[in-house]
Amino acid sequence: MNFKVTDYDNENPTLHCPKCDCEYTHLQKVNEETFEDRPGVTLTFKCEEGHEFTYSLMNHKGYTQSFLIS
Ligand SMILES: [Zn+2]
Repeated sequence: MNFKVTDYDNENPTLHCPKCDCEYTHLQKVNEETFEDRPGVTLTFKCEEGHEFTYSLMNHKGYTQSFLIS
């Protein structure tokens, strides 16, 4: 996974904004997607500094991987 996180309690990683490193982020939207004929999702977040960013989760060569797509 390429999520930038802080793991304060070793159980529940806290997502950071990839643009400003702010750890106060809010999930805005979840979309089902198809990537190369395989199911996946995109997760769009907004940080408290106003940046929007989107990660995808998809299968690739047998692995499940995340990609920052915007
Ligand atoms: Zn930000």
